[in-house]
Amino acid sequence: MIVAIDGPAGAGKSTVARKLAERLGFRYLDTGAMYRALTWLAIREALPLAEGEPLGELARKNPVTFDEAGRVFIGGCDVTSAIRQSRIDRMVPVVARHHDVREVMRERQRELAAQGNAVIEGRDIGTVVAPGAEVKVYLQADPAIRASRRQAEWPDIGADALATDLRSRDESDSVRMQPAEDAELIDTTDLEVEDVVTRIEELIRARSLATS
Ligand code: C5P
Repeated sequence: MIVAIDGPAGAGKSTVARKLAERLGFRYLDTGAMYRALTWLAIREALPLAEGEPLGELARKNPVTFDEAGRVFIGGCDVTSAIRQSRIDRMVPVVARHHDVREVMRERQRELAAQGNAVIEGRDIGTVVAPGAEVKVYLQADPAIRASRRQAEWPDIGADALATDLRSRDESDSVRMQPAEDAELIDTTDLEVEDVVTRIEELIRARSLATS
């Protein structure tokens, strides 16, 4: 079974998807980490981020891998912490918007999805990567709450800068941020992580009953 969890930054995707995967005993796939890893490598290689073809080529030659503990690797480097820097946050949408890049990522994500039960989080999972996913969820939250969640992760960055970053990332990502028609929308503004996870578990149960 594939559970697709999409939504904007700060909506709670990672925390919810990780916990859900743990409870279900499913694999967890963070597709944002894949785009982040490629962006990290492109910057290290000093590739121009405005050109899609070389970036697609770079992605093809350097598949992103994850270990059991969820660490992220590209080009032989462990980039788990490096890809969480705010400069990567700012540059990822520039890399992720290229068709060549998305094509390579989509194929790789489908390969990883095909390995069995998984919770996959991203922006276009329910619409593009796994349109046949048995359960699709789209998480959203009030922009102020999303910014304050980011602030908790990045205490050293000013609140205004964070809110601006989030807004500009939303704008760049917006073409890919449409919920799938058959996705369940969950507003996490006033919900605890546990509540969201339980809600998705209920959806999975209902879905399994309906198809058994
Ligand atoms: O989810 P996360 O914030 O780590 O994603 C980082 C960036 O990667 C997003 O802002 C978006 O530009 C890109 N992304 C994407 N498609 C996905 C996942 C992430 O374009 N499926």
